[in-house]
Formats: sequence, C-alpha cells, structure tokens
Amino acid sequence: MRFIENKWIPFNGFGLMNILGLVFSRKPIEKISKRSKFHEFWHTLQQLELLAIGGIVALTLCNIYASWWYLLALPIVPFAIYVASWLAEWLIPPYHNAQLLWNDKSVPFRTRFARWFTAMWHDAYRDNCFEREAFANESNPNYLFERRWCGWAWYALKKVDRNGK
Ligand SMILES: [Zn+2]
Repeated sequence: MRFIENKWIPFNGFGLMNILGLVFSRKPIEKISKRSKFHEFWHTLQQLELLAIGGIVALTLCNIYASWWYLLALPIVPFAIYVASWLAEWLIPPYHNAQLLWNDKSVPFRTRFARWFTAMWHDAYRDNCFEREAFANESNPNYLFERRWCGWAWYALKKVDRNGK
C-alpha cells in the first residue's frame, strides 16, 4: 500500500480514498492513524478480491462468446457489486440516523425530509458490507489471519451492527 498526500483527492469531507492500494490523503501522512491504515488495508484486500472476481467473469464470458469485448466486465463487475451493496443497505433496514431524523416530528417537514435524504445516503455508505468489514476490524491486526476469503460477503449476509457487534 502506498499513501499519497495531495490537496484534491478525496473530496472535501472525506478522509482517505483507496484505489487498489494507492491511498490518497488530504492530510499529512504522518497524521494518519494506525487504525486508518488497517482500515484501508482491509479495503485493499476487498478491492483485489473484487478485481479477481471481475477477471474470472470477464475471461469466462470472453471464452463463451469468443470476443475480447467481454474484458470490459473486468472493471464493470467490481463496480456493480459495490453499487449493489450500497443499494441493498439503502433499501433494507436498519436505517440508523436517517430513521432517527425522520422520526423527529418537531422539525418542519421540508427540513426533516432534506436531513433524512442526506442521512440516508451516508447511512448506506457506512452500512455497506465493505465499510462494515473495514470498520469492525480496523483495530484488529490479526484479522489478516482470521479473515475468510471475500470477508465482505460474509458481512453482507450477517446483519451485525455498524460497530461489528
Ligand atoms: Zn472505509
């Protein structure tokens, strides 16, 4: 893994952004905590697994349909899995913050709706299986040895809460 300090990536408001082990950071690298480093390391493993799945699907399709065009599945499949995990969390309870904001009837409807809408996206990000796996194990260096292949898929199935309990 390589950490790259820069002024633009990720967008303001986000801490770190990991692309296949290249981790972009807006803050100085010395200030990145050990926890965050483990968190990003689990994301790196997840991405390599997604890429391997994309590769297997792509090569299988290339063979079946005898066309290299199906190599496009290599980047598309990982992205589709990521989007699907996000959508699943968006659609399936529990909803955490969004639910609480929605239930707060003391706030006028339009404000309540706007807050709910923003929180809903953030909840779906925080609750998706990739983030849950990374957050649940960011303080556990042994997770490398305890982890099952495609650990994120197990997290998608078990409805543990965001703290991993
Ligand atoms: Zn993360």
